[in-house]
Amino acid sequence: MNLIYRSTRNSNMQITASQAILQGLSPDGGLYVPTTIPQLTKPIKELCRMNYRELAYEVLKLYLTDYTEEELKDCINKAYDEKFDTPDIAPLKKEGDYHYLELFHGATIAFKDMALSILPHLLTTAAKKNNISDEIVILTATSGDTGKAALAGFADVEGTKIIVFYPKDGVSRVQEKQMVTQKGSNTYVIGIRGNFDDAQAGVKKIFGDKDLEERMKQAGYRFSSANSINIGRLVPQIVYYVYSYAELYRRKEIGEGEEINFVVPTGNFGNILAAYYAKQMGLPIGKLICASNDNKVLFDFFQTGVYNRNREFVLTISPSMDILVSSNLERLIYHIAGDDSNKTMELMEALVKKGEYQITSDMMARLEDFIGGYATIDETQAAIDKVYTESDYVIDTHTAVAVSVYNKYLTSSKDPNKAVIVSTASPYKFVESVLEAVGNKAIPEDDYAQAKLLRDISKTPIPEAVEEIHSAKVIHDTVCDKDEMKELVERILKKANYDKGMT
Ligand SMILES: *Cc1c(COP(=O)(O)O)cnc(C)c1O
Repeated sequence: MNLIYRSTRNSNMQITASQAILQGLSPDGGLYVPTTIPQLTKPIKELCRMNYRELAYEVLKLYLTDYTEEELKDCINKAYDEKFDTPDIAPLKKEGDYHYLELFHGATIAFKDMALSILPHLLTTAAKKNNISDEIVILTATSGDTGKAALAGFADVEGTKIIVFYPKDGVSRVQEKQMVTQKGSNTYVIGIRGNFDDAQAGVKKIFGDKDLEERMKQAGYRFSSANSINIGRLVPQIVYYVYSYAELYRRKEIGEGEEINFVVPTGNFGNILAAYYAKQMGLPIGKLICASNDNKVLFDFFQTGVYNRNREFVLTISPSMDILVSSNLERLIYHIAGDDSNKTMELMEALVKKGEYQITSDMMARLEDFIGGYATIDETQAAIDKVYTESDYVIDTHTAVAVSVYNKYLTSSKDPNKAVIVSTASPYKFVESVLEAVGNKAIPEDDYAQAKLLRDISKTPIPEAVEEIHSAKVIHDTVCDKDEMKELVERILKKANYDKGMT
């Protein structure tokens, strides 16, 4: 029996996992959710003997039931290989009193690699299974991190092309360098004269253009998205929650059935939602501690039951969490409403119309496992400094938000459960902010010199991703106006077809 997925906004719909992955977003604007949450069947004694890939198979097979064993294992083996700089894939480090789950050992040294290294393979396999022979063209607008992780994931994956648009003057130097040096004959990176919203609006317009869709279909192309609302990004994220629990058990840090807490630095609510699914699957998790930066919409939501995006957008030193609309929260809303698509629809419409919504007291009661917290920029910097001073371990600005929130939670709750801090980026990725936080007085201008300084301080090697951009050649130099995006996409795809004909 296949696990059936439906939209959070339409309970009549019934599709399989591979169809949900192919579609990304439901046509009604909803997100795909499983109709039941599968249970972990193997005991922890068995799970703790598995490596990351074996465990990934145990989790993925429960959700992606219309993929064969061979297909899933093939996807897993292609994703979690030497692209990661450690065979552990997601190492759990004990530093001082805390356990850190390091999710930054992939190609772009941030946690998005955990899902974006497998999504391309899940997607191309899904296309084959559903007899779609069109080439899949991934369109992505990025404010920096997602674009590079998607490029790295899709580079040279057969049957796909990826086109990334970024605001020419709206990303950091390192982020731009990471993208424009991307290798792979199927990758295209374009700077636009405009901001991130312009890039995003342009991509949405292309997705909504029926004429273009038809013309592209004739040419053998089908558009898709690598966006974090794709269920194919959510499911692979459940794996490392099970993996870190099993690891603690293996190290005899916890006993069988003992509950642990997870602290997750949160933006779009995708990572922590995966922890929620892990808990619903029977993994002994106590609290899910949701850590926000100054953009504390989620903190307020957990306090009051009101989600309100009408507020100032704050630029912080944890930019990947600077977000006011956490799209994956819709899935949690749906579940705490008792899988009620009408209620979900009503609240999401209120969010669009009024910029806010309020959940019922029944729904509120189902949020008791969540603890919301937030850290200001000063608190974030202080957390980096404290961890470094006490345990000689350097954390990045996003992870520091989690540490700060967890310290405050411990002070007020005295919760005796062990906790895992989910560490979402390498300190090398936000090197300047990190150097400032540890009190460095003379920070060099040059990115690479900054990395060398961090190497001396942290006594960890400079990651390949940083070495690479230092020496890499610029491959992509196209810049366009925001209203030229569609034309450009058509030109790229036509030229690719022409080139194909020549070989
Ligand atoms: C994307 C990201 C986050 C936020 O994760 P969500 O799934 O959007 O909540 C946190 N830290 C880093 C470094 C990220 O790149």
